[in-house]
Amino acid sequence: MINSTTDDTTVANPPRPPSSTPPSIAPSTSVEIPETSPTTAAVTTTTSNAVVVVACRDAWGASPASTALVEHTPGQLTLHHTAVRQTTLSEGPARARRHQRFHQSLGWPDLAYHFLVDRAGMAYQGRDARFRGDTGTEYDPTGHFLVCMEGDFDAQQPTSAQIDTTVRIFAWAAREFGIDASTLAGHGNYAVTSCPGAAVTNIIPDIAEAIADSGPVALDLVCGPEGADLVAAIESG
Ligand SMILES: [Zn+2]
Repeated sequence: MINSTTDDTTVANPPRPPSSTPPSIAPSTSVEIPETSPTTAAVTTTTSNAVVVVACRDAWGASPASTALVEHTPGQLTLHHTAVRQTTLSEGPARARRHQRFHQSLGWPDLAYHFLVDRAGMAYQGRDARFRGDTGTEYDPTGHFLVCMEGDFDAQQPTSAQIDTTVRIFAWAAREFGIDASTLAGHGNYAVTSCPGAAVTNIIPDIAEAIADSGPVALDLVCGPEGADLVAAIESG
């Protein structure tokens, strides 16, 4: 069950108490992803004329959304984590499929989030942003544009590539929907949860600043055979 429990499904779990020990260094034998250290998780994204590559739903193997989607108008930027450690880059697409399966098993119409960003900085197209997300926690996601970063940021650090892509997607949404970067907040601002984890929560002001400073960002949705090739390349490592 550990791997099928994501942050928005853990309403019964209280937030974790602050740890008195610093985050452990990942074991070198099983972790292939370089992590930014706690002191260097700075947001340095430059997004002038930026493009962010997004794996289309068909590319990562999403199931269709049900007809129970509810329209809304995005008006604020909200950040989540999956609360599950990601240790290898190649598992990004499989994890996207797993999250969607689990969320739909809860009776939700689709993946809860509008975009997923894995630790390689790869973006996955989630629920259409014109439709409200879902949560098992007590806040109302109506109006929230939801980006979920893959990983457990109470236990690991985000990667620079992951932060960069997250900034770009939010910068795209800010222009697309006319949302001010200052609305950026973590899930924990709205509900009793540590999401998106301490290591990301601590840099939300920096991410918001990078979004505000961003130029236009275009989404490069990679679909069809090209998308299949992209995902196959990721999964083959
Ligand atoms: Zn969350």
